[in-house]
Amino acid sequence: MKTIGLIGGMSWESTAIYYRLLNQYVREALGGHHSAKILMSSVDFAEIEAQQRASAWDESAAQLANEAAKLEAAGADFMLIGTNTMHKVAAEVQDAISIPLLHIADATAQKLKEDGIKHVGLLGTRFTMSQPFYKERLASHGIQVSVPEDWHQDIVHEIIYQELVQGEVNTHSRKQYLSVIEALKARGVEGIILGCTEIGLLIQQQHTPIPLYDTTELHAEAAVKLALSASKEEEAV
Ligand code: GLU
Repeated sequence: MKTIGLIGGMSWESTAIYYRLLNQYVREALGGHHSAKILMSSVDFAEIEAQQRASAWDESAAQLANEAAKLEAAGADFMLIGTNTMHKVAAEVQDAISIPLLHIADATAQKLKEDGIKHVGLLGTRFTMSQPFYKERLASHGIQVSVPEDWHQDIVHEIIYQELVQGEVNTHSRKQYLSVIEALKARGVEGIILGCTEIGLLIQQQHTPIPLYDTTELHAEAAVKLALSASKEEEAV
């Protein structure tokens, strides 16, 4: 089994979910007392959040690249960044290491393609919804992406930063998310990407009939698949 490197803490509310899912999926696959091999670095989200607000992406890139290099030196076989938004600096993180970075949007696109979804709605932070880095990555897989209109993006973004990253789940906020999802549905999307690793705390498939694509789950699933896949040397034996 390969060792998963996970850069977490953005926020730790979702890193806790990653930790549980990575272990759960390995147990489901291998049974018995098996669990995932994980090396994790958990940053102080206050620093990252301040850099985001200041558009100091270079600082974030340097910090996350440094964490990735430490995990590689400690023995990680491949790397996860446990947040959608910070994939804005995915290229800089990949450049700092010689092991692969498993991109969260690639893991998500893979599942969309398997399900035959061609047009999808994207919920996430304002950075993820409004900037090109994430939408273009999905588009490179042939997926058409629609984002909520501006005032809906404000609602989605504020609920993430004011509530979800603090572990707060409110019924009223869930209703607001569901109306944003309805508006996207009216524009013809066939599924919704929960493109922020904390949204799954608020919205689950039981709340809406439209297919949901929870990036935390899909990222963790893809990571376990990779961790359990045979390496080239093992295949050669
Ligand atoms: N975890 C969130 C995401 O997936 C938001 C927090 C962050 O900005 O990293 O985008």
